[in-house]
Amino acid sequence: MESADIIVIGGGLSGSAVALGLVRLGGGKVLLFDEQLPSQRLSRGNFGLTWYMCKGGSSPVYAKWCRMATEQWPAFAAELEEESGYDLELEWTGGAVHAVGEEQFAAYEQSVQSLRETCKQAGLDYPVRMIRREEFAGMIPHLPIGEAVTGFMYAADQGHVNPLKLLGALRAEFQKRGGRYFCGKSVTAIQPATAGSCVVLADGERFPCAKVVIAAGHGTNKLLAPLGERLPIYPQRGQLLVTERHPRLLDIPILAVRQTPDGTFVIGLSTEETGHDSQVTMEAMKNQAANAITLFPSLARLNWVRAWGAVRVMTPDGAPIYSRLRDYPAITAIALHSAVSLAPLKISAIAPWILGVKETEQISSFSNGRFHV
Ligand SMILES: Cc1cc2nc3c(=O)[nH]c(=O)nc-3n(C[C@H](O)[C@H](O)[C@H](O)COP(=O)(O)OP(=O)(O)OC[C@H]3O[C@@H](n4cnc5c(N)ncnc54)[C@H](O)[C@@H]3O)c2cc1C
Repeated sequence: MESADIIVIGGGLSGSAVALGLVRLGGGKVLLFDEQLPSQRLSRGNFGLTWYMCKGGSSPVYAKWCRMATEQWPAFAAELEEESGYDLELEWTGGAVHAVGEEQFAAYEQSVQSLRETCKQAGLDYPVRMIRREEFAGMIPHLPIGEAVTGFMYAADQGHVNPLKLLGALRAEFQKRGGRYFCGKSVTAIQPATAGSCVVLADGERFPCAKVVIAAGHGTNKLLAPLGERLPIYPQRGQLLVTERHPRLLDIPILAVRQTPDGTFVIGLSTEETGHDSQVTMEAMKNQAANAITLFPSLARLNWVRAWGAVRVMTPDGAPIYSRLRDYPAITAIALHSAVSLAPLKISAIAPWILGVKETEQISSFSNGRFHV
């Protein structure tokens, strides 16, 4: 029986980032358990964008949260690289979404306007603009843009990262600072004990601790059910394709296509309501390939070498859930989409909130209680 100050359940991007934040702040002995189920490879199957663009359309507080995260990204990455020794391959070259046809260009223009209004309510600007095809072509001169593309929604102050290296770096620095990472360890139950503490049961062993953080993605509700709580999260599949390597042509990531520093093009993104099935389908691959070729016709000459699917954790309003359990405040549940983009806030806001040293004003807006009014 090993005891701890804090146990984090789920070693994906969310759990690993929070765990690192806790040890950086001197949160005591922190254990991180991850069961590594192949069906929950979300943190290893994403696109790697570090964006605020298009986020928070119906929620000024979420728009602000995304902006705070993006603003923190460059410094967060620099510190993590220095401390972990990993190169995150962060590129801060902006990001764009392409529009096909005049109707889609006008719809995007409208959505930029509407998010600008939403941001005003949070005292924010929204430095996203629509760019015509010819202007954007000058920004990526080595990759011709397809004729059907009319323009791009673009923001300069965002970027992309290697999400696998991000995950590796978070876990590496966590362990370097004395945190203990248990790979392949499955938590079966959390038992609240006396004086607000808990016992975590994992693979037949008992781990007493003062606080628990559940960041177990789609495994979260199974752990919450016996505690009388449930998060209204739902699954949404996304599929990605990867091409063979090619000398660098594209420096600005587009929502449908990005090129990594090692030369592969990553092509996405599908959004499918197919439950917890993470398989790839020919139909989605064909659609995504066709979309990518509409955007950049010369990609048709490359071979696709890999494809995968992963199941997003979605919330009804798209914003994260960071919530202390009503009856057991020593237990906190975290569930969200966009855990790459929002990673810096796990360190700067969520870990201090869990330790009770600082509460950033937005956090109370993201409790699970907002869905039960
Ligand atoms: C196609 C696609 C593209 C995406 N692109 C982006 C992007 O560009 N930018 C961005 O910000 N986000 C993106 N996302 C979303 C991003 O991948 C997720 O927000 C992120 O991975 C969620 O991380 P998490 O740690 O919260 O959850 P998960 O990665 O699901 O981690 C949960 C972990 O908990 C573990 N676990 C579960 N139950 C237990 C248990 N009982 N005991 C122990 N461990 C347990 C699981 O094994 C898992 O490792 C994308 C998602 C998809 C599908």
